[in-house]
Amino acid sequence: MDKIKIGIVGYGNIGRGVEQAIKRNDDMELAAVFTRRDPATVSIQTEGAAVKHFDDMVSMKGEVDVMILCGGSATDLPVIGPEVAASFNTIDSFDTHAKIPEYFANVDKAAKEGNNISIISVGWDPGMFSLNRLYAESILVQGSTYTFWGKGVSQGHSDAIRRIDGVKNAIQYTVPIEDAVEQVRSGSEPELTTRQKHLRECYVVAEEGADKAAIENAIKTMPNYFSDYDTTVTFITEEELKANHSKMPHGGFVIRTGETGCEGNKHVIEYSLKLDSNPEFTGSVLVAYARAAHRLSKKGECGARSVFDIAPAMLSQMSAEELRAHML
Ligand code: NDP
Repeated sequence: MDKIKIGIVGYGNIGRGVEQAIKRNDDMELAAVFTRRDPATVSIQTEGAAVKHFDDMVSMKGEVDVMILCGGSATDLPVIGPEVAASFNTIDSFDTHAKIPEYFANVDKAAKEGNNISIISVGWDPGMFSLNRLYAESILVQGSTYTFWGKGVSQGHSDAIRRIDGVKNAIQYTVPIEDAVEQVRSGSEPELTTRQKHLRECYVVAEEGADKAAIENAIKTMPNYFSDYDTTVTFITEEELKANHSKMPHGGFVIRTGETGCEGNKHVIEYSLKLDSNPEFTGSVLVAYARAAHRLSKKGECGARSVFDIAPAMLSQMSAEELRAHML
């Protein structure tokens, strides 16, 4: 059987996670990594795969079945998404929730013009969490849905701390508040404020002689990032940061509680993820959806899709017959 040939566009955390995921799926192989940097400065971990400049991508038409776009959601994907969809099937993990409808429309137009398939916003949130919210709300029509994130590193919040004067390095964890999770699991459908759902834990390396009280105050009062949360700030050394905080764990819960019948029988649906490595897990989801994109493209379909549009059987290496025999 011919392997599905994958291209990775952008080689950061998610790009490296996708590369590792390809190695664990024997129906796929990495054809090339495309980067906007000088390719000679980017070393990858797959023998035989090429590292090429982003501008040379179109010369690989016919040699790549699906491009997995691993650029950042803020500024990379809104440009790269439609551009690559015009020439290749694509998968991405676009996660700016408020802009998904606009992004979908732009990618859809380009993909239809190029006769390609693009599955957008694939990962865990958006992605697996979105699917589980949809399943739960379709089944328990009356009820409440809650999403808790963490414990995990928030890249955006860590960056915001690093921009404060006197901060040398920092990492921020989002932590779900156990009492709130338990209230939700009880089925009482509580109304929870932002502050009641999550804590923010910050580990900060200060520059020598920096005013630590001023840094702590700047973090705790930062609007949009920390002021709506209970936030803890712990000063540590660069060595402690490297030793204890260099992994990228994440995870969380989607919980829906609701009632059925005329007696009001209660039900709890819970989906939980505990991830040692956010990029490696996200990469594994992206690769499963690349398989689906390849299959849809071979059927002659084109245009943009989200995870809601992809039948589960499309993700598996097993045939429909095997799935019915082993998984139903
Ligand atoms: P990174 O910052 O690690 O990488 C983003 C891009 O930056 C890369 O594609 C790469 O492009 C460039 N880059 C990476 N390293 C360097 C470097 N040393 N020097 C210069 N440029 C570099 O971001 P992540 O991979 O962590 O995340 C990408 C996106 O994935 C996030 O913006 C987030 O939106 C999304 N995401 C979605 C999830 C979901 O569940 N849906 C979960 C996790 C993340 P190039 O090679 O072209 O230079």
